[in-house]
Amino acid sequence: MVCSDSNPTTNSMDEKQKSLSEGQLIELINDLKGYVAYQESLGAEFFPRSTTKIPPHPTLTEVRRDLGECTRCKLHLTRRHIVFGEGSEKAQLVFIGEGPGEDEDRQGRPFVGKAGQLLTRIINAIGLRREEVYITNIIKCRPPHNRNPQQEEIATCEPFLNKQLEVIQPKIICALGTFAAQTLLKTDAKISRLRGRFFSGRGIKVMPTYHPAFLLRNPHKKKEAWEDMKKIQKEYIK
Ligand code: URA
Repeated sequence: MVCSDSNPTTNSMDEKQKSLSEGQLIELINDLKGYVAYQESLGAEFFPRSTTKIPPHPTLTEVRRDLGECTRCKLHLTRRHIVFGEGSEKAQLVFIGEGPGEDEDRQGRPFVGKAGQLLTRIINAIGLRREEVYITNIIKCRPPHNRNPQQEEIATCEPFLNKQLEVIQPKIICALGTFAAQTLLKTDAKISRLRGRFFSGRGIKVMPTYHPAFLLRNPHKKKEAWEDMKKIQKEYIK
C-alpha cells in the first residue's frame, strides 16, 4: 500500500487512494506520461517556456549602423570617411591602432597607407592574413593634420570600440602604439614600458607593441616588435 490514512471519516476518494497498489500507481504514472506526450505532440505546453526576452547578440553591421554618419565629436567636420574597421567578425586576434591617417580617411579602410603595409607584412609574418584578423582604431575619424587624438574624442568613440570587441570577443588584442595601449589599459605609462607583455583587459589578453608608423621612423625597434609578435603568435596557436 502506498497511501495510508488513519482518519475514520475518510471519503470515497481516500478509499480509492488507499486501495492503490504500487503496481497500479506505476501504471497510472505511465498513463499520465503517455497522456502528456500525446498532448505535447498536439502542441500543448505543460511547462511554458520563459517569456524573458534575451536580446540577440549584435553584429558588427549593427554596431556600424548604430554609429551612423557620426557627428558626436568635432572630427566629423574635417573627416572624409569614417574608418570603422575591417576583417573577420570571428577573429581571435584584433589589432587596434590610434586613428585613421590621410590614406585611411580617403579610402574608409584602416591601415592602408605605408604603416598599414608594414602591419600587413607583420600579420603575414605570424602566419595570418588580414582577412583572418580584425583591424580597427581607437578613434574612427582622422584628426586634422594627423594631430594626436584628444581625450574627449577618444571618450566619445570608445563605446563603439567596446561594442566591436563585445561582438568579436577575440582571444588577443594587439595594441599598436601609445594611444591604443593607454586607452585599452587605462594607464598613462609609455609604450616602451608597456610593450612586450600581456595585460588583461575585459578578460582579453592585450599585448602592447610599437605602432608600425613608429617602426618606419625607427627601424632599429623592429626587433623588439618582432619579439612581441612572436609572443602573440604563440598565444594565438595555444
Ligand atoms: N595609423 C593608425 O593608427 N591607424 C590607421 O588606420 C592608419 C595609420
